[in-house]
Amino acid sequence: MTTGSSTPRQAYNDVLRLMKEHHEWFNRSIPLIASENIPSPAVREAIMSDFGNRYAEGWPGERVYAGCIYIDQVELICNDLARRVFRSEFADCRATSGVVANLAIYAAFSNPGDWMMAASIPSGGHISHGKKEHAGTAGLVHGLNIEHYPFTKEEMTIDVDATKKKIEDMAREGRAPRMGMFGGSLFLFPHPVKELAGFMHDHGMYVNYDGAHVAGLIAGGEFQDPLREGADSMTMSSHKTLWGPQGGIIVSYEKHAEAIKKGIFPGNTSSHHLHHVAGKAIALAESLEFGREYARQVIKNARALAEALAGYGFGVLGEKRGYTMSHQIAVDVTKFGDGGTIEKELEKAGIILNRQLLPGDIKAGRHYMHPGGVRIGVPEITRLGMKESEMKEVADFIKRVVVDRQDTARVARDVADFRRQFQKVQYAFDNAVGAYEYISLVGGNNR
Ligand SMILES: *Cc1c(COP(=O)(O)O)cnc(C)c1O
Repeated sequence: MTTGSSTPRQAYNDVLRLMKEHHEWFNRSIPLIASENIPSPAVREAIMSDFGNRYAEGWPGERVYAGCIYIDQVELICNDLARRVFRSEFADCRATSGVVANLAIYAAFSNPGDWMMAASIPSGGHISHGKKEHAGTAGLVHGLNIEHYPFTKEEMTIDVDATKKKIEDMAREGRAPRMGMFGGSLFLFPHPVKELAGFMHDHGMYVNYDGAHVAGLIAGGEFQDPLREGADSMTMSSHKTLWGPQGGIIVSYEKHAEAIKKGIFPGNTSSHHLHHVAGKAIALAESLEFGREYARQVIKNARALAEALAGYGFGVLGEKRGYTMSHQIAVDVTKFGDGGTIEKELEKAGIILNRQLLPGDIKAGRHYMHPGGVRIGVPEITRLGMKESEMKEVADFIKRVVVDRQDTARVARDVADFRRQFQKVQYAFDNAVGAYEYISLVGGNNR
């Protein structure tokens, strides 16, 4: 690792060089992190624009700052596109991340000390739904108490009947939950929003669906449709299956608009990263045009990869339900080692995925550095144009490293060869610039 550059100029050069090397590395690797995607050249252009140097606190037309003539128009287009993509009455695209979107919802609809139902981390929950003792955002920042949903590993989803019973028990114990949070980060099958939202409303709960991972699938009409199934709002990241710049979006009903807007500003943002708002608008337009076809291919690819890996003896979770209905699969690797070690070996071969705590890992004494599983996502390789037949090749590369224990340098060379056919972003209006082509504004190519 390069550290401690001796002069400012060297440090400056090092940063520019390392960014370029990162691009070259990703251009010859297979990116399988389930929470990542590759944005179009147009989104990259938005991120480079001067919008990123401006302030626009407040709502378009009611800004606290001058200089927003063009910014306001873009933000209005962005909100309009978000409403169309998610068929919602209201959209706020100012959250600077998915975590900030969740914080805005906590601020708008609960008070510190209230109870929230959410999935535990091994059941797929996200740290932003977590308890204070785990430094989870909900507990640590907003002071919420968290009760976990009962979860079935067989079905890999929330247990409806046990959840109803738990909510009733909590009410009897004088700690009736104020909020139900659906969604997660290990997210193979839809959560039972339709089965539980009515019950939760009857028990005085506000229902949010965290679609950080699956927003691009929902945009494409796949997976599930939380607002129609009874959720009061949906928070999301704009950069996972939705292929925008990093950021957050909230969609909801008009009746919740004022509370959500305050939760975002002044509640949880000052600058709201206007270059990313422009990028979100572009990504949403791409989603309206290409999102359906993309979402279908993502799910087909995830299934094809799951089947190929199962064929090589990997313990792919959710077998009973066809492995997955989303963009990701979860693989129990305990037969071959632990998730942490396997993640590192695969990285050497240019296969980039991450280790994953699985249901039952904590009880079995495994922990987050060396869990029993890995999580594999196909959003990025699908955007690069890969289809089912390529999923077999990807599974084969993984098998060569994990099962056959082949030399990782050799596999890396074959991975780089394979990647040569997939250089451009698909499902986009423009793709003249390569997916990972490094654009230098200061002549970095001569460095
Ligand atoms: C990734 C994720 C988030 C956090 O999103 P950021 O945009 O990284 O802040 C929130 N919730 C879930 C379920 C996630 O998977």
